[in-house]
Amino acid sequence: MKKYTGNSIYNAIAIGKVSLFKHCRGKVKRIRVDDPEAEKIRLEKAKEQSINQLREIYNKALKEVGEPNAWIFEIHMMLINDTDYNESLVNIIDSQSVNAEYAVSVTADNFAAMFGAMEDSYMKARAADVKDISDRIINNLILGGNECALFKEENVIVCADDLAPSETILLDKSKVLGFVTAYGSVNSHTAILARNMNIPAVMGVGEEFLKEIKDGDRFIVDGFSGEVYIDPDSETTERLTQKQNEEEEKRRFHQNLKGKENITLDGKEIDIFANIEGTENIGAVLLNDAGGIGLFRSEFLYLDRHDYPTEEEQFNVYKKVLESMAGKKVIIRTLDAGADKQADYFHIGREENPALGCRAIRFCLSRPDIFKTQLRALYRASAYGNLGIMFPMITSVEELTEIFDICKDVKKELKSQGKEYSEDTEVGVMIETPAAAIISDLLAPLVDFFSVGTNDLTQYTLACDRQNPTVERFCAPHHKAILRLIAMTAENAHKNGIRIGICGELGADISLTEEFLRIGIDELSVAPGMVLKIRDRVRNIDLSKSE
Ligand code: PEP
Ligand code: MG
Repeated sequence: MKKYTGNSIYNAIAIGKVSLFKHCRGKVKRIRVDDPEAEKIRLEKAKEQSINQLREIYNKALKEVGEPNAWIFEIHMMLINDTDYNESLVNIIDSQSVNAEYAVSVTADNFAAMFGAMEDSYMKARAADVKDISDRIINNLILGGNECALFKEENVIVCADDLAPSETILLDKSKVLGFVTAYGSVNSHTAILARNMNIPAVMGVGEEFLKEIKDGDRFIVDGFSGEVYIDPDSETTERLTQKQNEEEEKRRFHQNLKGKENITLDGKEIDIFANIEGTENIGAVLLNDAGGIGLFRSEFLYLDRHDYPTEEEQFNVYKKVLESMAGKKVIIRTLDAGADKQADYFHIGREENPALGCRAIRFCLSRPDIFKTQLRALYRASAYGNLGIMFPMITSVEELTEIFDICKDVKKELKSQGKEYSEDTEVGVMIETPAAAIISDLLAPLVDFFSVGTNDLTQYTLACDRQNPTVERFCAPHHKAILRLIAMTAENAHKNGIRIGICGELGADISLTEEFLRIGIDELSVAPGMVLKIRDRVRNIDLSKSE
């Protein structure tokens, strides 16, 4: 037996046999040609084929993992038509009289090196995308559009050096039990896709692993610990088979909790809501019986496009979410742009410390016209359900005063235009800066609810960049400072008769559920797939017993 350890991507166990992933990459040779025009025609044909294939992949991804995860294939389609990329292809063919495959291969290397050298992590990630689309075009040039057959066998665990997003989405879930890669990071698109596809996965197990693994090896992936086993011994197989059975049992049991209350053994009831990024997540919210939506990250409506969404576009999305939730609470967070959530058209410019820069409410208050458009859409949608509007990254009372002035103007304007909105629309602040927690006694009288964004509260309190993997070990989520700030905020919320929820990742940490209930948290908002797990935890807590 050989054991390797990497980063756990999706918590589940897969037991099966290895299928080594063969990338569909043809070998590229430099060939001099007499007719560069004919090469350009071949190239155009291959690009067209690539776009058609990507459209199919996009549609598959849309069905399986939703729009926020499928968008990457839209980017790939756009990259194929990128002017600079195409200029380079044509230049190389014309100036060197070479074959199209070679032009694509050289352009891919040049562009990947250029993107890879950029500081911005978003642009850096584009290097892999250029490689991915270029491999596709080359493959179409060499193989004439025949996609490589991926897996013929069933119950396999795919092992690869790395997987591109387009390769990941093509994994056939009826045959593939899980996957392991030697390289790749936890925050890559491949990792995000794996989580959304519910595929047990471990990434970054290292190069040595590749030398050891062979097609057909008996293999286990422990997606909980990040450990993988080649030719596991009987003790390991037994232990992990048992764990796998227990997890399946738990999953079935959790399904039985649908329709039940989130109530402790001694009778304290809380709300368990779900976090969403767009309308495509509503199905999962309803399927998992969430009591409402505690965080709709509205910025996903703004990303990966070339201009701001119009009032009408936004109104239709917000209305759809509110109507689908049929009177249940829906908390929509206003645009949290900036830091890692960028679009060219935001024109934020380079910042030394983007997480401390023009982000979230600062961005909106600096561009009141954009903020107003969103607020108009939100208030108009409020007539169709039970809306709460929440403001991110608040640090002062003055910011709230400014926000409320804009809200007042928006409502006045809507009234004068005869447009309907609900006077009962609640407003709340996200507690995600230490400043907001410390002055929560001053903020509480001004709003209807608090929602703690523990991801940022942790980043800002512990001075740990949440995007930087090298400081991950200093970013202790259970740090006393965070728990004290939450407790203090909860006390101030209740003194002022308002509700407090947690919508950051810590809300889904079942080792803290009891503590959160004791602190007096009224609502936990988590990924839809976590709702029933938290309900189970809550129903087993007895607050009358001393800690
Ligand atoms: C948070 O900061 O905890 C939060 C919920 O917001 P986001 O993760 O979108 O920044
Ligand atoms: Mg946040």
